[in-house]
Amino acid sequence: MLGVYIHVPFCRTRCPYCDFVSEAVHGCPPDAYVEALVREIEAHEGDTESGSVFLGGGTPSLLSTGQLARIFEALYARFLLNSEAEITLEANPDDLRPELPGQWRALGINRISLGVQSLGDRVLRYLGRRHDADTALRAIGMVGEVFENWNMDLIIGAAPVDAWADTLKQSAALRPPHVAAYGLTYEPDTPFGARAGEAVEEDASLEMYRDAESALSGWDHYEISNFALPNRQCRHNLVYWHNEEYAGFGTGAYSFLNGVRARNSVSTRTYLDNPCRKEESLPLTDTEIRLETVIQHLRLKSGLERKYYATRFGRSLDEDFGLSLVRLVNRGLVEDDGLAIRPTAQGFYLNNEIGMELVG
Ligand code: SF4
Repeated sequence: MLGVYIHVPFCRTRCPYCDFVSEAVHGCPPDAYVEALVREIEAHEGDTESGSVFLGGGTPSLLSTGQLARIFEALYARFLLNSEAEITLEANPDDLRPELPGQWRALGINRISLGVQSLGDRVLRYLGRRHDADTALRAIGMVGEVFENWNMDLIIGAAPVDAWADTLKQSAALRPPHVAAYGLTYEPDTPFGARAGEAVEEDASLEMYRDAESALSGWDHYEISNFALPNRQCRHNLVYWHNEEYAGFGTGAYSFLNGVRARNSVSTRTYLDNPCRKEESLPLTDTEIRLETVIQHLRLKSGLERKYYATRFGRSLDEDFGLSLVRLVNRGLVEDDGLAIRPTAQGFYLNNEIGMELVG
């Protein structure tokens, strides 16, 4: 089943480390953007059966309840969402007000992903976030009262690093159903790019990653950066990690449909002029799709079953990747029990090396 992604490219202010497609806006995103999304959703052709919807950004929690209702009206008219469908809204802690979680739930949203990043005020200031730790804790309380399924995002490697242990301790005590912990990057085209010298050393970053694994040992570390309580894995992201099809709507959104990877314009102005126009469209060869499927599956603890590969592609995994797999096993990055290949603990952390070996 298809994953559906809706991009909302607006934030109250821009965080200095962020290179996502978004721009600052006062108040709610413009109605014109919502109408463009609706036009693009209505024009979707092909598969309509979907098991997940993800509203990401940017900051989707800036949308008014009326704007969200308009988007969901279009989604429910165009897509067939089964009763089990996971419907996620990304929210920033500073947007939470007590009445919002109930309103979001009434629209069919059943999962909230909160951009907490840290529970230390000094770290949040370093990151240039708009919220402080108290605001994040209040937001978690409001979300947790209404939603059984929610995620908190954390950032690994932000200064001061000695606050990390306390953030992990507090986070684990909150029993979030899902935690996503990604490393801080100093992207060249962001204000943080000029501060790349502040990045923590590789060893310290690895230690912080291992600290997260220990603090969250009661959670299933099912993907390199993701931890879940039972049945709380992010179904939408599993679509990407399984290299299955998804339809993306909005500025800069990617789609992968019928073997073609396409992207909308990264300029909201251009997108508004013609929301149905793909700026890039790249048909992938069968070989590329098979390669990406293996690379993506090896981000997951569960890895890739030979039977799954044979059923999906009508070919044998060993025929296509045998030599690389032997080398990966010899390097200790992948383990192979004959039925499936899986990343080792080392392969989890050095995942890009797995990709490089497979690409050859
Ligand atoms: S709120 Fe999120 S998307 Fe917006 S600028 Fe900050 S990190 Fe980027």
